[in-house]
Amino acid sequence: MQSGDMNTAPVTFISRARPNAEWPADLLRAEEIRRLRPQGRPMDEFIVKIHSRCNLACDYCYIYEMGDTTWKEQPPSMSMQVAARAADRIATHAEDHGLSRVFVILHGGEPLLVGAKRLEQLLMVFQTSLSYVTQPIFGMQTNGLLLTEEIGEVLHRFGVRVSVSLDGGKEANDQHRKRRNGKGSFDDVVQRLNDIRRTPYAAVIGGVLATIDLRNPPLATYEDLRQLRMPFMDFLLPHATWSNPPYRPEGAAASPYASWLIEIFDHWYKRPDQPEIRMFSQILRMLDGGTARTEMMGLEPVTLAVIETNGTYGLVDTMKSSKPGAAATSLDVKSHSLDDLLALPEVAARQLGEHALSATCRTCDVRKVCGAGYYPHRYKAGEGYRQPSVYCPDLYELINHISRRRAQA
Ligand code: SF4
Repeated sequence: MQSGDMNTAPVTFISRARPNAEWPADLLRAEEIRRLRPQGRPMDEFIVKIHSRCNLACDYCYIYEMGDTTWKEQPPSMSMQVAARAADRIATHAEDHGLSRVFVILHGGEPLLVGAKRLEQLLMVFQTSLSYVTQPIFGMQTNGLLLTEEIGEVLHRFGVRVSVSLDGGKEANDQHRKRRNGKGSFDDVVQRLNDIRRTPYAAVIGGVLATIDLRNPPLATYEDLRQLRMPFMDFLLPHATWSNPPYRPEGAAASPYASWLIEIFDHWYKRPDQPEIRMFSQILRMLDGGTARTEMMGLEPVTLAVIETNGTYGLVDTMKSSKPGAAATSLDVKSHSLDDLLALPEVAARQLGEHALSATCRTCDVRKVCGAGYYPHRYKAGEGYRQPSVYCPDLYELINHISRRRAQA
């Protein structure tokens, strides 16, 4: 580890007025935010929850299966009035800040539960409001079960690219990604993907997101996903915190997730016929001096906002995995602008770069690439989010391995 530079000067905090005060909400001063971040970086990516229920019951789901019950307070689907107000807020924000493009990611629950007609209406609202002032780029995160030709046509017309969640081959996927009756989802999703490929709308298929399970062999998992012929894939560390640590096999080395990923990296690296693996390509990009295009790693300000089905603004959805209510705010599209959201300590904290890091991370020699990892994975009850990642040993090992391989190439 190396000593920090000027930019790692510690941030002063409100003295602990009560036990268990957590960073940033209870401890980050408004004046300190203004000093460190005189102007917030405008939001340019919007996770729009158009449906708040799901047709799967995955056992690791951070929305429905980890103790956060805020989804029960949400209407099942976003009304056209809320969608119009949300689109208007985004358009105003884009215009005020001169944004040439914004990303609008339709999300859920399962967003395709809205059906083809409502999907078309919602996309039309966002397209119409936004295209006067900026270029909207649409995406969707889906489990793929409802990806019919009719839906494919709508998605294709609006240029929506979908990322599909699958954890590997049938056996690996169906351990966790099950229907409510316990039946696995793999066969049905693959059937949908193959059906769409036979239509003129095959271009809507973007990539596959897979949550790592150490019990599955890494290379077999990768090869199974590669058979799906998706343009990109990404591997996600399972949601975990210091208060709810990740699964680690008994007697395993200190960094089993790094070992799992390194096996795939060594197979993948420098082979021209492989699909993009986002986690690896982002690390390589940062090692080359570039900036991350992901909120999972690096020190770039996070510019992502969530809009729930009832119009309330939320923080990154996956924070629900750290503690119940962690992703909620009291602001909504009816009464508050996106600039109001930018002023919240919880949002500002993700735009402070090295100032938001723990003392341990500020002196770490891979901090510019790692950035303490994914924000929800830093959470410790009674302390908050100013901790190293609970995956610290894995991230340190993985980044150093990739750095060494890159140097040898
Ligand atoms: S979490 Fe990342 S930046 Fe922090 S000490 Fe660990 S490897 Fe370094």
